Amino acid sequence: MHDYADIREEVAKLCQQFPGEYWRAKDRERAYPTEFVTALAEAGYLAALIPEEFGGAGLPISGAAAILEEIQRQGCNGGACHAQMYIMGTLLRHGSDAQKAEYLPRIATGELRLQAFGVTEPTSGTDTLALKTTAKRDGDNYVVNGQKIWTSRAEHSDLMLLLARTTPREQAARRTEGLSVFLVDMRTAVGNGLTIRPIETMMNHSTTEVFFDNLRVPAANLIGEEGQGFRYILSGMNAERLLIAAECVGDAKWFIDKASGYAKERVLFNRPIGQNQGVQFPIARAYAQMRAAELMVHEGLRKYEAGEAVGEEANIAKMLAAEASWAAGEACIQTHGGFGFAAEYDIERKFRETRLYQVAPISTNMILSFIAEHVLGMPRSY
Ligand SMILES: Cc1cc2nc3c(=O)[nH]c(=O)nc-3n(C[C@H](O)[C@H](O)[C@H](O)COP(=O)(O)OP(=O)(O)OC[C@H]3O[C@@H](n4cnc5c(N)ncnc54)[C@H](O)[C@@H]3O)c2cc1C
Repeated sequence: MHDYADIREEVAKLCQQFPGEYWRAKDRERAYPTEFVTALAEAGYLAALIPEEFGGAGLPISGAAAILEEIQRQGCNGGACHAQMYIMGTLLRHGSDAQKAEYLPRIATGELRLQAFGVTEPTSGTDTLALKTTAKRDGDNYVVNGQKIWTSRAEHSDLMLLLARTTPREQAARRTEGLSVFLVDMRTAVGNGLTIRPIETMMNHSTTEVFFDNLRVPAANLIGEEGQGFRYILSGMNAERLLIAAECVGDAKWFIDKASGYAKERVLFNRPIGQNQGVQFPIARAYAQMRAAELMVHEGLRKYEAGEAVGEEANIAKMLAAEASWAAGEACIQTHGGFGFAAEYDIERKFRETRLYQVAPISTNMILSFIAEHVLGMPRSY
C-alpha cells in the first residue's frame, strides 16, 4: 500500500504550527479549534476524497487515512473536522448532478462546511431504525420535527446531513425503508425551526443536541430517493470506521512514542525506568496491538479501494485500533506516573479524547455482534 510519505510530511509540518499549548487552551475553554480546521481546509486536506472534477484532491481512501492518522500522531485532534472528509460521500454517491455541482466545489474550497451528521437520537441510540424525527412533505418542502443528540460540530457547520423518517415505520414496505437523507442548510435553519444546544463532555468535542420544530427543508435538498436513506447512510459507514481506525492508530503511535521516550529518560534508583520489564511490557504490548490493528486497517483500505466487501475488515479494524489506542494511552499514563495527570504533558487530554472511539461512531458490542452474526453466522441477537 502507498504510504503517502510526502503527504504525511506536509501534514506533520502543518500540525507543528498547532502544538500542545494550542490544544490545551482549546480544551480548557471548550473552544472549537477554528484556526486548525481552517488551515487544514485551506491546504485542501479536508477535500481529500472529493473528486478532482469537483475541486477536491480525488485521493483514494488510503490517502485520507494517512492524513487523519498523521494528525493524531502529531498530538492534534482530527475529531474537530474528520466528518467533513467522509459524510460528503453520501452526497457524492447518491446526490443528483445538480446537488453535487452546487455543493461539492464549495465544500472542496472550504467555503461551505459539511461537518454535522444528524443520525443518533436520545431514545433510539444505536437502534437507528427506531429514530423518531419525522420529515413530512408539504408542497415544495419537507417539514421536520424531532430531536437529535450528539450532533457534533453543529455550531461550526454550514450544512447538516440529516436522517429522518418520511414513512411511518409500520407503513414502510421493508424494515430498512422509510428513512430519508436531507442536506439541511444550517445558515438559514438556525432560529427558523432549528435550535442547537451544546453538550458538555469529558473532552473538547463541540458536540450538541439539536431540536427541529417545524423546520422547512426544500424538497430539492432530499438526497437520492425518498425512503432509501438508511441504505445511503450505511454505505458510508465502512469508510467512516476505517478512517476513525486510522486516527486511533495515530493516537496509539503518539502515546507509544511519548511512553517509550519518557521510559528511556526518567532515571530512578540509578537506572532508567524503561529498564524495568514492568514498565517496558505494557508499552511493548500496546505496540504489538497497534501493529496488528494497523495491518487490519491497511487490509480494509486495500479491499475498499478494490471495490470489495469490507464490512468485516472495517469493523474489526475499528475495534482493534480503538482498543490499541486505549491500551497505549493507559501504558503512557502509567509510565509517566504522576506527570501523566499533569495537563502540560497532553497525555491526559489525549487519553480522554481517544476513549470516545470505543463508543462512537459504533460501540464495541455492536461490532462484536456484527462479527458473530454476519461473519460467523450465529443467530441475530437483537
Ligand atoms: C462525543 C460524541 C460524539 C458523537 N458524534 C455523533 C455525530 O456527530 N452524529 C451522530 O449521529 N452521532 C454521534 N454520536 C453518537 C454515537 O454514535 C453513539 O453514542 C453511539 O453509536 C452509541 O449509541 P448510544 O450512545 O445511543 O448508546 P446506546 O445505543 O444507548 O447503547 C448503550 C450501550 O449499550 C450497548 N448495547 C446496545 N444495544 C446492544 C445490544 N443489542 N447488544 C449488546 N450491547 C448493546 C452499546 O454497545 C452501548 O455500550 C456521538 C457520540 C459521542 C459520545
